[in-house]
Amino acid sequence: MEQSIIRVSHLGKRFGELEVLRNVDFEVHQGEVISIIGPSGTGKSTLLRALNMLEPPTSGDIFVNGEQITAKGYPLHLLRRKVGMVFQSFNLFDHMTVLENITDAPMKLLRIPQEQAKEEAMSLLKEVGMAQKADVYPSALSGGQKQRVAIARALAMHPEVILFDEPTSALDPTMVGEVLSVIRQLAKSGLTMLIVTHEMRFAHDVSTRIFFMNEGIVYEDGTPEQIFEHPVHSATKAFIQRIQKLVYEIDSDDFDFLQIHTGINQFCLKYNITGKKDLAYSLVKEMLFTHMRTFRPLTLRMTHAELSGLTALDFMVEGLDHSPLTDDAHESLRPQVENLIEESTTRGFRVKLIL
Ligand code: ADP
Ligand code: MG
Repeated sequence: MEQSIIRVSHLGKRFGELEVLRNVDFEVHQGEVISIIGPSGTGKSTLLRALNMLEPPTSGDIFVNGEQITAKGYPLHLLRRKVGMVFQSFNLFDHMTVLENITDAPMKLLRIPQEQAKEEAMSLLKEVGMAQKADVYPSALSGGQKQRVAIARALAMHPEVILFDEPTSALDPTMVGEVLSVIRQLAKSGLTMLIVTHEMRFAHDVSTRIFFMNEGIVYEDGTPEQIFEHPVHSATKAFIQRIQKLVYEIDSDDFDFLQIHTGINQFCLKYNITGKKDLAYSLVKEMLFTHMRTFRPLTLRMTHAELSGLTALDFMVEGLDHSPLTDDAHESLRPQVENLIEESTTRGFRVKLIL
């Protein structure tokens, strides 16, 4: 078997009493794209920060290309060349132009001559679609643009591996796509990457392997298919099947429809389903004002399962034992939705529209 780029052995990290990483073991090989998923507070960032010694581990060892970087006195500037990092909050230098942000480290640490560094930086900026902005300062860029520059900056050091810590979490939802597509492109180019992300669909599509982290350990490790379709542990299953919800209790006729409209908008933006926004809005309007006008109180629930991509609108009337929908309502709704499910529950009656 070829040598691993990263090998982590019995890695542990404590902050005082708090044991954040417990006995973490894994290997990463050339060209692997590993997404690290898991609840917040489980040590994902700490693990990445340990891998480039921003947060030195308290026990265990890390080897990069066979060299023990946790050894006493291992030169950190060597490590920084091998392991690049892209942060949630970009961390660009605000007093330098985009181009200078990228050429700075290669010139200082790799001693690349200025002209060559500039040439390389321009070609990297082209790769991330930012060549036009070479001479502006970061303050003039959107979040998505800043993050693409930060990626180019990491690439400029020709690292063996790049670590991404939630690269899209600080972005306005409209900008998530442009950053993910740059990372997808890098994945195809064979660059070795470890990506902490909450974007399940992205992780599923882009990764060769997934680590599910939970309570300071790599709880489950497998191909996207194993982790997302056949998870072994119940904690993994619960995490990946997570469903996002938006809920409104509507008890009288003078409910705040503007608030619901805004809520649907934001929900669709947040979970990247803006394509379903107009349909969701018009269905809610039609249901509340026409088909279910006389049914109060009712609970409106919009749900979105991130992994399957299934979006639904639930209208639940408590204490009702039959469908609130007339034949006309059925006729109007059916052609607009993927599926219409009516079900009696222990609490009442529910109409579910799958979008
Ligand atoms: P994740 O990235 O999975 O959300 P983190 O690695 O950021 O988790 O944090 C894991 C735990 O370690 C959290 O409880 C956090 O509060 C704690 N922690 C992280 N960094 C520090 C630090 N520098 N000092 C003390 N506690 C920390
Ligand atoms: Mg984190």
